Amino acid sequence: MNNSESEEETVQLTHGAGGRAMGELIENHVLKTFTNKTAGEIGLDQLDDGATIDLPAEGTLVLTTDSHVVNPLFFPGGDIGKLAVCGTVNDLAVMGADPVALTSSLVMEEGFPISKLNRVLTSMEESSTESGVPIVTGDTKVLEKGDMDGIAINTAGIGLAKEPINDAGMNPGDKIILTGKIGDHGMAIMQYREGLSFRTELKSDIAPLNELLKRARKSGNITAMKDPTRGGVAAALNEMAEKSDLGLTIQEELVPIKEAVSGIAELIGISPYEVANEGKAIITAAKESAREVVEGLKSHPLGRDARIIGEVNQEWTGKVIMETEIGGRRFLEAPLGDPVPRIC
Ligand code: MG
Repeated sequence: MNNSESEEETVQLTHGAGGRAMGELIENHVLKTFTNKTAGEIGLDQLDDGATIDLPAEGTLVLTTDSHVVNPLFFPGGDIGKLAVCGTVNDLAVMGADPVALTSSLVMEEGFPISKLNRVLTSMEESSTESGVPIVTGDTKVLEKGDMDGIAINTAGIGLAKEPINDAGMNPGDKIILTGKIGDHGMAIMQYREGLSFRTELKSDIAPLNELLKRARKSGNITAMKDPTRGGVAAALNEMAEKSDLGLTIQEELVPIKEAVSGIAELIGISPYEVANEGKAIITAAKESAREVVEGLKSHPLGRDARIIGEVNQEWTGKVIMETEIGGRRFLEAPLGDPVPRIC
């Protein structure tokens, strides 16, 4: 071990033991980095057993949780911290909710560099500020060296919905809308893992979608929403079709895909339809208002490439049909497993 390594400050078992060392780690790193820490009288700074939340309006509470184990921790376009905040914000947003507060639970491996922890916390802070969602309570645990790989982050989130939107509420005739280009996150991680990063400038699409989807909700009659994360657009569309017992028909030439994504997809033999997106949503809207929903999405930077890609039907119940330009038809199947492990 050389000097710089031996002197590097790292996470120790005592940092997760609930005593003074943990207090210092939280005080000096977590509390100093996060700025957006309250949603009620008792927030993160109080270090109480929980946080209180003053609900901003009447409505239905939506609760979600997600654990993040992405490998590598830092990748083009983001890192595990950004993912941990945006992933949970987006799950609330596609439920038709305005996110109100988040929790942050850090599980770290003994020896994890404090410098990396600080980078992750800074990313969480940036995404919390960007989305306007405070992190109000949290937890820290440390496992013995070798018992895990670096860091895992669980975030739970609470949101408030006037009318919750599920992922299977669509009706025959509804239009299917995609908020942007597909496959960026999965392919950005794959090219990085496979050492292909010199080939393209592709970055993950991770972004908080709450403001974008709020605009969409205000623009028209949305009947269902889902974020195509693990398993990609193929898994999300199939889940929507199966749950609703309706068919979804997609026009292949209307699905926007970056050239870099298609290129990597061909190189590694994984379909862009089957890899995760972290800044996109699939929306179904009543036929009459689908155009307005697309316009609403386009008025936000994250929805610039939004478009209608297909329609809901009653013929192919539980199936997703892909129609090609030359009139061909095939089933778009959900991937059997996750073609890209530890993607989020
Ligand atoms: Mg989801």
